[in-house]
Amino acid sequence: MDKKHVYDMVIVGGGPGGYTAALYAARAGLDTLVLEKLSAGGQMAQTHQIDNYPGFEDGVDGFSLAEKMQKQAERFGAKSEYAEVSRLDLNADPKVLETSEGIFYGKTVVFAAGATPRELGVAKEAELVGRGIAYCAACDGMFYRGKTVVVVGGGNSAAADALLLSRIAKKVILVHRRDTLRATKIYHQPLMSRENIEFCWNSTVTELLHDDKLTGVRLKNVLTGEENTIECDGVFISVGRKPATDLVKGQLELDRSGYVVADETTKTTIPGVYAVGDVRTKLLRQVVTATADGAVAVHMAEEYLAGGA
Ligand code: NAP
Repeated sequence: MDKKHVYDMVIVGGGPGGYTAALYAARAGLDTLVLEKLSAGGQMAQTHQIDNYPGFEDGVDGFSLAEKMQKQAERFGAKSEYAEVSRLDLNADPKVLETSEGIFYGKTVVFAAGATPRELGVAKEAELVGRGIAYCAACDGMFYRGKTVVVVGGGNSAAADALLLSRIAKKVILVHRRDTLRATKIYHQPLMSRENIEFCWNSTVTELLHDDKLTGVRLKNVLTGEENTIECDGVFISVGRKPATDLVKGQLELDRSGYVVADETTKTTIPGVYAVGDVRTKLLRQVVTATADGAVAVHMAEEYLAGGA
């Protein structure tokens, strides 16, 4: 790597937002680098079936879609580097990105680091990961074939996870702290009609029961205070995501939940730095909204590089 090389754009994160920015930037003739920790796709790569990204009439698995996005950007000259970013100096000129593979420099930075699963915050949760506690049904569901699993949460992720697991596990118990799902209506009927899905409404998990691996959960009814125990082999925690914004704390403005404050322009509080995809404050976090952000960010970056704001 040439340490003196200054890219027009360095993109942190190779998810759908990051690789769309790479595609638009490379096509616009910008010298573009994507820094990705593991492999392309981010959260999308762990999604078994994506049915709401246009252009795939039979749906597409997230891993394949990620590969396609990466190859498409690289066809126009975008480069990818597998490196973990450890420190950013976004106010410097050029902007500095310290990584496990060395230091990179960019005239502009697209921050598209995505989000990670939110923990439930119950005792022994971390210790039992891989021994009954999981955060990704598409990744770990197959380990629970013919078994009983609990899914915690009431949003789209929990609904999608419960449906996926109902095709693998013997029984799925959806535990939600309210009496209705937050998930969009499209999930309700399929969930209710699955014979092997049960619901524990108004309930929270208060304890993880285990020997060397998970054996069950203790639940508390939030209305009555009543407690009960459920035996199960696995608990899939689907209670939302937290943005991967530790790297930019103190440099970019973050909202109370830790998302980078940026509107539809994706512009952050630092000129030449753009927040794209799930890290940004936004109404709807989807693959299609992340890709849209990537395109907008490049449009804004081109204006900035040409001497605009
Ligand atoms: P979400 O929509 O924020 O839902 C999180 C769920 O977890 C909520 O039901 C919440 O309960 C519950 N929860 C949060 N903290 C909890 C705690 N400590 N204990 C128990 N329950 C807790 O998150 P998400 O489902 O991960 O979805 C994230 C984004 O991705 C959303 O924008 C979603 O639409 C999108 N997504 C879309 C699809 C799709 O099929 N289109 C699939 C997956 C995700 P309350 O309801 O009480 O707040």
